[in-house]
Amino acid sequence: AVVTRMAPSPTGFVHLGNLVQGLVAERMAHQSGGVLFLRVEDTDAKREVPGAVEVLINTLKHYGIHFDEGATIDGDSGAYGPYRQRQRAAIYHVYARQLVLQGDAYPCFCTEEELTAMRAEQEAKKVNFGYYGEYAVWRDSPIEDVEAAIAAGKPWVLRFRSTGSIENKFKYSDLVKGTLTVTENDIDQVLLKSDGIPTYHFAHAVDDHLMRTTHVVRGDEWLPSLPFHLQLFRALGFRIPKYVHIGPLMKMDGTSKRKLSKRKDPELALTYYKAEGFPVRAVYEYVMTLLNSNYEDWRKANPTASSDDFKFSCKKLNPAGALFDYAKLCDVSKNEIARLDAAEVYDLALEYAKEFDPDFAAALESDPEYARSILAIGRGGKKPRKDLTTWKDVRPYMAFFYDGLFTPGEFPAQFDGAVVRGILEKFLQTYDPADDAAVWFDKVKALTAEAGFCADMKAYKADPAAWPGSVADVSTFLRIAVTGKTNSPDLYTVMQLLGSERTAARIRAAMD
Ligand code: GLU
Repeated sequence: AVVTRMAPSPTGFVHLGNLVQGLVAERMAHQSGGVLFLRVEDTDAKREVPGAVEVLINTLKHYGIHFDEGATIDGDSGAYGPYRQRQRAAIYHVYARQLVLQGDAYPCFCTEEELTAMRAEQEAKKVNFGYYGEYAVWRDSPIEDVEAAIAAGKPWVLRFRSTGSIENKFKYSDLVKGTLTVTENDIDQVLLKSDGIPTYHFAHAVDDHLMRTTHVVRGDEWLPSLPFHLQLFRALGFRIPKYVHIGPLMKMDGTSKRKLSKRKDPELALTYYKAEGFPVRAVYEYVMTLLNSNYEDWRKANPTASSDDFKFSCKKLNPAGALFDYAKLCDVSKNEIARLDAAEVYDLALEYAKEFDPDFAAALESDPEYARSILAIGRGGKKPRKDLTTWKDVRPYMAFFYDGLFTPGEFPAQFDGAVVRGILEKFLQTYDPADDAAVWFDKVKALTAEAGFCADMKAYKADPAAWPGSVADVSTFLRIAVTGKTNSPDLYTVMQLLGSERTAARIRAAMD
């Protein structure tokens, strides 16, 4: 079974990449009957925003990522904690001591200025940057020097004593990237900073060992550090986990691909999808299609199955990173909303409106049955209407059903106002809310013919110039009068739901 984790840093910004990694980890763990846990990597107190841990936990929960153990809003849950790194300082120090005793780590007292000067020298000599070889000045210092520096109260960091050489390459197999040839690490990297807080690298080795991680799922920006991580695991005597390095999310920019960027692309933030009104399920489903290209076909064949029944494979991930496609997300979202029944649409649209559109929420809540009947139009059946892409669309879709939200529309300019008014007047004379849809439409056709318009669309299309207009135009006049729009759900049903009084009042108002 796979034991894996999400190990985000609480920066206050939860992005789509977090969700991508979270879903990969979640599927790998739970599909194998294993464990997914959440570790909060809060060692960088400078970057931390207050409340960020809560935002992180709540956002991941909102998108349905289920953790079996780890940090929760109410503290820790599980036997391998603490799951917040800042509470693990004493643990890291035990392993730091072990490395020092083994001769695999040593204190370095270089100041910022010395390190800057060293970098300048390396730049001038056009050699690699870093603390290695002749530049690793504290590496073999006599114990007296170390003691003197400590006695003088000089700050120090703990460095790893690397035995690697960049002359050496080795093969490494990653579950997404495949077999890679990588170069050994020759840099004596920092394990503990001067405040005793571990670097990501050291905490990664210690925590993932103690928390019995079998698979490390993380972004591929960590791939360059992998040779160092392997050295660390070996020096500490830990079993090396399997690595799943996930490529960044890409998008098309003109004809070339680029990484989604926090600065340029609002759609990188998970809050964006919430504010735009994408159903959580739609985002989830879309991410699944990004991860495994066969997911879409599987979903078509199993429209109501739980996504847990899909056979997820991390081998199917694109090693170069998935290509994010907004139009595709919209498509998935449309299908997702089309699958819901009116009551579900009502509940979710209301939840959205309560947060982002309180006026509309009040309208929806004023008469839930009425709202549900509106949302039921064209829903269900083999070919449901796909008018809604997001919860944001619900308002423009149905606002005209509420007098307080209704905005009158304009009739098409190519028709004479008097002609339009005459047709509407005729409609009102024969309109009877007791009519069924067929009788209603027969009446519309009759008044079409009376006005000299063509009631037979086939005949009209064969020679449109022969008539001033068609039954479709007459329907448009009625639709504009009643809904204010040229596009609406079935007009007969709309009139039934509005009721004869409101229907007639709207038509009369439109004739003024
Ligand atoms: N805190 C690291 C990050 O957010 C974790 C990487 C990992 O999963 O090991 O990138």
